[in-house]
Amino acid sequence: AVLTAVLATTAYNFCFTEPVFTLHIANAENIVALAFFGVIAVITSRLTVQVREQTLLARAQADTTATLLAFARRMAGIRKLDELASTTAQEIRNLLQVDAVVLMPDAAGRLAVRGSAPAAANLSEADLAAAQWAFEKSQVAGRGSETLPGAKRLFVPVRTGNGVVAVTGVSREEPEFQLASPQRRLLESIGDLAAVGVERVRLAKDVDQAKVAADQERLRASMLTAVSHDLRTPLAGILGSLSSVRAYGDKMPQAERDALLLSAEEETQRLARFVSNLLDLTRLDAGSLAPKTEAVDLPALVRGVLQRMAEPLKNHRLTTRLPPELPELWLDPALFEHVLSNLLDNAAKYTPEGSEIEVMAQRHRFTLTLEIRDRGAGIPEGELGKIFDLFHRVRQGDKARAGTGLGLAIARGFMQAMGGSITARNREDGTGAVFEIEFAKRLIVSRDNTEAPP
Ligand code: ADP
Repeated sequence: AVLTAVLATTAYNFCFTEPVFTLHIANAENIVALAFFGVIAVITSRLTVQVREQTLLARAQADTTATLLAFARRMAGIRKLDELASTTAQEIRNLLQVDAVVLMPDAAGRLAVRGSAPAAANLSEADLAAAQWAFEKSQVAGRGSETLPGAKRLFVPVRTGNGVVAVTGVSREEPEFQLASPQRRLLESIGDLAAVGVERVRLAKDVDQAKVAADQERLRASMLTAVSHDLRTPLAGILGSLSSVRAYGDKMPQAERDALLLSAEEETQRLARFVSNLLDLTRLDAGSLAPKTEAVDLPALVRGVLQRMAEPLKNHRLTTRLPPELPELWLDPALFEHVLSNLLDNAAKYTPEGSEIEVMAQRHRFTLTLEIRDRGAGIPEGELGKIFDLFHRVRQGDKARAGTGLGLAIARGFMQAMGGSITARNREDGTGAVFEIEFAKRLIVSRDNTEAPP
């Protein structure tokens, strides 16, 4: 630009000032004009250069901002620290044309490489020492800095409001590698974005943990309530009956004494059932439940259970549909009886006296199902998925009936242990619940399935 200004001034002198076509300047006024012209030309050219430089700088900054924005967006979707570390390393490499590593501390506070670009970077002892120093002192260390300049890389701490969470390290294969200060600022900006990402991933983990802890607490509370309620009620009943019989037994009519003893017996049975449910539950929880599978004739097994359940089912009409040509099933008869008794017991408990309970087995193309259908109020739609949860009872009114909310949870656990499944739905033909037990193909004994499933 300065050259152009000089040339233009000379050309003006040569072409337009008297004497024309020489470099002589005859008129003193023209000297002033020429000098003025020259100064203006130099100033204009300087200004143009500056504007151009600023435009280029602004464009480069806009590019960097756009890249950082894209990086921030990508970071927002990341849920794992390792992924976050390698994305950050990759970004540093792309933006600064350097080899990059990202180190994060383990539980003991010792740094380890969590991400690098190019992949699988190994750090020397000197580099690790510089990184650790940068992490602990929250200051830049390594190549090109004042601390441990013998390291191969330059390490910059990544800070959040809670302190340093990671360290980024950069290097290039040139002996005199240094990061210029705009590049160092860029590295720090990437580090800031990574810090926000780390903070977010940590918070998400904390929230998950808090949720699990709250769930556990709720479960513990409902377990305590259920256990204390279900132990206290029968115990109070037994105690009341027995003490009345002991204190006034000889003065009581025989019938009244028998009724009290019978009620004590029933309450004891209820208590025994509850304790055995709890034991089943701990076996399921510990994963120590190993079904003793054998080939079982389903109709015979169902009839046996119905006979044993005659007492609780005595006030209901029972309809069974068990096709005679059903294949045998690989089952643990004791566990299956428990599941079926539980479903029948519920069907009797949660439906009006005199209503019908149906037990229907059906062969499908690949599977076999056993349905227990009742004519009660059914289960509210929103509760269908929850009734198999531990201690879950649907209605306040259900609490009046003896129960713990354990039965269905155990039934599902037992069926799953045997390789089957159990689901609940409401009837389509009027009100009532349907509990469907499904036996997958591998549980059906056939010519090509002659071995119990593992
Ligand atoms: P419990 O019967 O001891 O309460 P379950 O786990 O067997 O526990 O059942 C959980 C809940 O599911 C019951 O409290 C009841 O609200 C509901 N339920 C179970 N079976 C039926 C049914 N056949 N009809 C309507 N509601 C049912």
